[in-house]
Amino acid sequence: MSDNRPTILWLRRDLRLSDHPALEAAMARGGPVVPVFICDDLVEGLGAAPKWRLGLSLADLAGRLEGLGSRLILRRGDALEVLRGLVKELGAGTVMWSRLYDPQSIERDKNVKAALKEDGVEVESHAGHLLFEPWTVETGTGGFYKVYTPFWRAVRGREVAAPLSAPTDISAPKAWPASDSLDDWQFGRAMNRGAEVCRPYQRVGEEAAQGRLGWFMGEAVGSYDEARDLPAEDGTSGLSENLALGEISPRRCWHAGLRAMEEGKPGAETWLKELVWREFAYHLIYHTPHITEQSWREEWRGFPWSEEEDTEKVMAWKQGRTGVPFVDAAMREMYVTGKMHNRARMIVASYLTKHLMTHWRVGQKWFENCLTDWDPASNAMGWQWAAGSGPDATPYFRVFNPETQAKKFDAQGTYLRRWIAEGQKGPTKTALSFFDAVPRAWSLNPHMPYPDEPIVGLKEGRSRALDVYETWKG
Ligand code: FAD
Repeated sequence: MSDNRPTILWLRRDLRLSDHPALEAAMARGGPVVPVFICDDLVEGLGAAPKWRLGLSLADLAGRLEGLGSRLILRRGDALEVLRGLVKELGAGTVMWSRLYDPQSIERDKNVKAALKEDGVEVESHAGHLLFEPWTVETGTGGFYKVYTPFWRAVRGREVAAPLSAPTDISAPKAWPASDSLDDWQFGRAMNRGAEVCRPYQRVGEEAAQGRLGWFMGEAVGSYDEARDLPAEDGTSGLSENLALGEISPRRCWHAGLRAMEEGKPGAETWLKELVWREFAYHLIYHTPHITEQSWREEWRGFPWSEEEDTEKVMAWKQGRTGVPFVDAAMREMYVTGKMHNRARMIVASYLTKHLMTHWRVGQKWFENCLTDWDPASNAMGWQWAAGSGPDATPYFRVFNPETQAKKFDAQGTYLRRWIAEGQKGPTKTALSFFDAVPRAWSLNPHMPYPDEPIVGLKEGRSRALDVYETWKG
């Protein structure tokens, strides 16, 4: 049935035009489509780096929409109130969006849906952020998966529909509603002077993401099995920032990976498995929303971790000044680039939760502030995996040794030199740029001596963590 009233497309983490089921459905209604982004409390509350990165993405999408004769309408306020106002103003018959799966978004979206329906507005939510809706993957007994490998086995052979193309034009309403200005929202405010340093490391928008996917499948996936563990190499796709904001669809990635596999490229299957780790994280956040806030395993809730966020030791961890070079290099990489290599994430998380005996939530929160690829599901799962409190986690007694890890995965010390300036004769530009990125209040400069000793020694920290664990286990 064709309905010529405008459809409002509420965009959130689906900031792309191609392979966008909600956009496709909105256009299929036949009337004008009004794309809207709402800065509500959830958006307002984002960490500094993800919020800044979101602003870059919105600017890119707004430009692309304009190229198709459309616009991106920006409004600030409570999502329901904003949508109600726009429905009235436009005489819109339908509101559509792509589903999200974190507990806060689910709650908001449920309320918005119920209230709009009561107002007599049609509401449709669509898939698009994931390959597999979390409720469609079930164990033999009808439950959800708590372990990755059987989850992978359950989904790997599933049919995944081919990605949809981008529209060539989007029907505009007779008159556009007013829009806020992105500049006025100041999404980069909390980044301070870090933004300028961080900007060149961001691959913003759909076109850049698709270009990177093409590069990765052409040049890098074949050596992914080995290179993905080497933090100094550009050996992974780097698409996490794009997937987090929906600048590229997981479906497009999946099909590219499958094609590479059919072409016999050795790393392709491993890469598809990584994409499925993202799916698994969403499966978990959907079925066990407490994963974002509490230790997933109940017995871990009483583990004697410290929750203090600004002790000298935790600050040294945040500032890349622990005196453990691999940990410091990684923390600096994150501060400068907004991203951190996966191996490095595991190592810094292990050092914080084990050597520094600090709660994983402290690390989760810091990452939430610093990562431009911040993702509520993968971040929560990653931290709980490293801490030992999560599903299918690494056991607590498996304490990463950053020195051994550096020898194995950064044998030439390239990664360390890239990020640590102190003590180097000719420090690298990247290492120096860290000092331009950090807040002045940290009072750091590259002429300071590097800590002569780790704040917590590797052996000492390991045995303390294991002692606490043994006593706690009883
Ligand atoms: P590739 O190696 O090219 O993998 C392709 C895609 O698969 C990634 O873009 C990502 O979407 C997904 N993926 C890969 N590894 C994982 C994984 N271990 N868990 C879930 N998905 C994965 N990832 C985020 O996207 N956002 C986060 O906030 C985040 N926080 C993390 C925190 C900790 C403590 C740990 C240990 C891991 C975290 N990860 C997070 C997972 C992982 O480190 C990143 O997804 C990965 O480094 C992104 O690099 P890439 O895009 O080059 O990945």
